Amino acid sequence: MDDLYTLERGDGPLLLSIPHLGTIIPDDLRDRYTDIALTVADTDWHLDRLYAFAQQLGATILGARMSRYVIDLNRPSSDESLYPGQTTTGLCPDLTFRGEPVYREGCVPDAAEKQRRVAKYWKPYHDRIVVELARLRERHANVLLWEAHSIASVLPRLFDGKLPDLNIGTQDGRTAAASVMKAVTDAAARSDYSWIANGRFKGGFITRNYAAPQDGIHAVQLEMCQSAYMDEAPPFDYLPAKAEAIQPTLRDMVGGALDAVVALS
Ligand SMILES: [Zn+2]
Repeated sequence: MDDLYTLERGDGPLLLSIPHLGTIIPDDLRDRYTDIALTVADTDWHLDRLYAFAQQLGATILGARMSRYVIDLNRPSSDESLYPGQTTTGLCPDLTFRGEPVYREGCVPDAAEKQRRVAKYWKPYHDRIVVELARLRERHANVLLWEAHSIASVLPRLFDGKLPDLNIGTQDGRTAAASVMKAVTDAAARSDYSWIANGRFKGGFITRNYAAPQDGIHAVQLEMCQSAYMDEAPPFDYLPAKAEAIQPTLRDMVGGALDAVVALS
């Protein structure tokens, strides 16, 4: 099932996961979706390109190919809310971030369809995370799981005003050693970009589920504004000059966290 994701293996203590990179809605499901949903606007566009530098850090890079409108890999398969009491999107979102319907009338997936999608699309990505983390842990006492995300900078349905450029999430410090967290926030603070740690975004399901700092797995989510590297309007073009401007900061954040992880060993 490797058509569900792309995987580039490295041997460094770093797994870079990009669960919302996918843009594919399978042919057998397309008739269910609205025209607006078929533009897959809520994709974490181009993050494989933006993070290509991670290869030089020995990263293993895992990127989803299926759209989050098929199933959201960063939600629990039980579909419990990530942020109880706040508006958030679920396992099979029925509204886009802007509140438009994802499905045509009568086509919202029922519980059985959601479970079919969990088995077919969700589980293989998670099984791959488990396998790759285990492989890296055989070589390294401590490893870094970096969850790479990006989102439109203004989405009134989900948050007030403009999001800070860099949103670091570690579940209020629980998913990574303090020295790893400090390396990431120090790098953000050195940059010219606005940033916050554990604000609106504290880390989604993948960050929370696989983090085990006491067991050598340190997880950090970075949710970043798409305005920092791309055009947020269709056709969602990558903007190389903006991207090249923020890449040194990203490299500093990921590289700093990696150095801190290695120093723990
Ligand atoms: Zn995302």
